[in-house]
Amino acid sequence: MTFDVVTIFPDFFRSILEHGLLKRAVASGRAAIRLHDLRDYTDDRHRTVDDRPFGGGPGMVFKPEPIFRAVEALRSEEQDEDVRVILLSPQGHLLTQAAAEELSHAARMVLICGRYEGVDERVVEHLATDEISIGDFVLSGGELPAAILMEATIRLLPGVLGNEESRQQDSFAAPEVGSQDGRPGLLDCPHYTRPAEFRNWKVPEALLSGDHEQIRQWRRRRALEKTWRRRPELLTRVSLSADDRQWLESLEGKA
Ligand code: SAM
Repeated sequence: MTFDVVTIFPDFFRSILEHGLLKRAVASGRAAIRLHDLRDYTDDRHRTVDDRPFGGGPGMVFKPEPIFRAVEALRSEEQDEDVRVILLSPQGHLLTQAAAEELSHAARMVLICGRYEGVDERVVEHLATDEISIGDFVLSGGELPAAILMEATIRLLPGVLGNEESRQQDSFAAPEVGSQDGRPGLLDCPHYTRPAEFRNWKVPEALLSGDHEQIRQWRRRRALEKTWRRRPELLTRVSLSADDRQWLESLEGKA
């Protein structure tokens, strides 16, 4: 999977590329991340990327020419390849786990990071194949959203996470063939580690029991409970057993 990131702040990404998952994925050759300075695609002495909005109003807007030039140059490098051109924007489709799963099958993505008031709408209409938002809030630039999109998709590539099972048990996980103990579509269950007692707070007995069925049931129920309390809308999309339904009804009885 190759990412080409178009930004006016390529240095913004240096530290995240020197740590953790992105560093490992790049070092192992599973992902390539190439940074491109939008100003390298300008044609004036001042390397201008923005201009005032037509119709007046505050702020500046990214001009279309440098962005089109950058993306077209990157696309022409490998003409056969199917390239997703993704504009990071608060007006885009939400980046969910399901959206990250879908993107993780793409071979190549160009990520356009906006700034200021955003980008000229002709980029949206005639260049981007996708417009993606990381949430219903507004940041000052597309660099953090681009980093988040890369991490969310790269961690789904086979072999990137040391432990594939942990991904199958994460919150929002898609149903996985072969997952013995997955809780697809739910929020993750609570986790505990040593010590078994900390400031009088004890780890739940079930987790110390060594009984696999008891542990499985405890985790499933806690995941259902968390999801029911915090994100009940997710429950409409998961398949529930008779035992799950009974447990949820018992919670409703207590509420
Ligand atoms: N005027 C724009 C609006 O209200 O929709 C906001 C522009 S924002 C200040 C500048 C840039 O930050 C955007 O062009 C986009 O690239 C990025 N950005 C901000 N919030 C974002 C979000 N929630 N998801 C993705 N990108 C975002």
